[in-house]
Amino acid sequence: MIYIGIGANLGDREKTLQEAVGILDAHPKIDVAAASSVYETAPVGVVDQPHFLNAVLQIRTRLSARKLLNCLLAVERQFGRVRQTRWGPRTLDLDILLYGDAVIHQPGLQVPHPHLHERAFVLIPLCDLNPDLKHPVLGHSIQFLAGSLCDSPVRKIEGLNVIKK
Ligand code: ADP
Ligand code: MG
Repeated sequence: MIYIGIGANLGDREKTLQEAVGILDAHPKIDVAAASSVYETAPVGVVDQPHFLNAVLQIRTRLSARKLLNCLLAVERQFGRVRQTRWGPRTLDLDILLYGDAVIHQPGLQVPHPHLHERAFVLIPLCDLNPDLKHPVLGHSIQFLAGSLCDSPVRKIEGLNVIKK
């Protein structure tokens, strides 16, 4: 199972998430199989910026992790993301959270995502999809990791779905 984190905190965040998911699902080698609920989260790091909407997608793909990353970065660029400050505001952020059990340490690509285990806005939506999933490096379940968080809380947005049917 491959999991992607998706987030937006500028512009029409809801529309951005739905359009980005549509673009990914339209890719001939990517199938969006499931999506978590959408959560609103206070920004981490640079706190003086709008709140984020975050969700997690479960996808199926034949792309390698590297090719998938390139594809995600291309979609981010399509939404006009300009990389200025690290952890600063962005129209769209797409991250590879888990690529099956793969453990990858390459320049510009780390899987599992290096902050996966400490971020509520990733762990809580992941719990929607698969609470028993094991972190391939830490060996703990997502549910366990979510229970040990000190991160700021996330708020579920009822009735909002990133997959438009
Ligand atoms: P973050 O998503 O942690 O807030 P950025 O999106 O600004 O930070 O960082 C993007 C960079 O992180 C990309 O250029 C990419 O090369 C690198 N990166 C390393 N591992 C991953 C991963 N698993 N998923 C997405 N980007 C990654
Ligand atoms: Mg990112």
